[in-house]
Amino acid sequence: MSKVYFVPWREDSDMVGKFRKMIIKSGILDNINKEDRVAIKLHVGEYKNPAHVHPLYLKELVSTLVEKGCEPFLTDTTTYYCGNRFSAVGMIKNAFYHGFSLANIGAPFIVADGLGSDEGFSVKVRAPLNEISIPNLFKEVDKMIVFSHCKGHALTAFGGSIKNVAMGCVTKKSKLAMHKFVNFCYDEDLCDGCDACKDVCDREIPTIKNGKRVLSLEKREDCMHCPGCMDVCKTGAIKLSELEKLEKVLPLAVEGLFNVIGKENIISINWGANIVEYCDCMPFPGKVIRKNTGIYLSEDIVAIDKAFLDDANKNTFMIDGRPDPEIQTIEGEKIGIGKMEY
Ligand code: SF4
Ligand code: SF4
Repeated sequence: MSKVYFVPWREDSDMVGKFRKMIIKSGILDNINKEDRVAIKLHVGEYKNPAHVHPLYLKELVSTLVEKGCEPFLTDTTTYYCGNRFSAVGMIKNAFYHGFSLANIGAPFIVADGLGSDEGFSVKVRAPLNEISIPNLFKEVDKMIVFSHCKGHALTAFGGSIKNVAMGCVTKKSKLAMHKFVNFCYDEDLCDGCDACKDVCDREIPTIKNGKRVLSLEKREDCMHCPGCMDVCKTGAIKLSELEKLEKVLPLAVEGLFNVIGKENIISINWGANIVEYCDCMPFPGKVIRKNTGIYLSEDIVAIDKAFLDDANKNTFMIDGRPDPEIQTIEGEKIGIGKMEY
């Protein structure tokens, strides 16, 4: 059984202060030594989506680490899709706009996958994923704290600590490889050539020829099987299926990172607030689907996601055909990255 520390959410309470007390009283940072380089992995959120972790919580975490004499820094990886966080420079600006700056937090923000956004090394992982590319930066850290905003996700139903590490601690090519586990179906007979999918794709992958959607041979491999096309297609010509396959590979990527940094060197924090319909990667949060639950802290990445899902009720996230979010934790336990019992 794993330990998960928890502060229930109270609107009339100093949650930032309670969070700090929980970190100190738990003793969970005792394993972090003076001068350790501590990567705090967060999702900085797409520009203008306010439903990311509030910077004040990171400020408190950073101040406790600085008091211990460590060198904490914030980090995240650039995106595969062409939004504001596609380039390293864009990512740094985005982090700044959302309050994740040295001035606000007391720790600098460093882009994990480098200025070229592809500085990674290959790590073998279990089939069917087989291999992931991990940013070089993660070879250099002593400890990692995974700070995750708990929210819904259009493909994986839920995003917590497992998702934050699996998709957020790999380079672009592994993000693409994982997304391709979702099955993309196109029924040409239903296509009326309306152009909507062509207009929505920021990678300009689809084109329309003879009144039908086509993908050029050169660009076909670049399609990440995202919900973009399906969401705008009014005829039902495009469907995504087998979403659970993506959920199942997430723990495999987590195991890959554990093999680099060391499972014992990673702590997770789940921020169960602003629990919205969509991931922080979208430019809007969607509606609030669950009232705030609280803040969770654990050395077990499976137990912490399970604890949140139990409190929030996993059915909250199974909307619009989204899969069972617990697949992530079940598969995680199967391969030994953590325990469901806490
Ligand atoms: S699913 Fe559509 S929007 Fe998404 S990458 Fe592929 S072509 Fe582009
Ligand atoms: S959005 Fe649907 S109907 Fe329109 S071009 Fe694309 S596949 Fe065809």
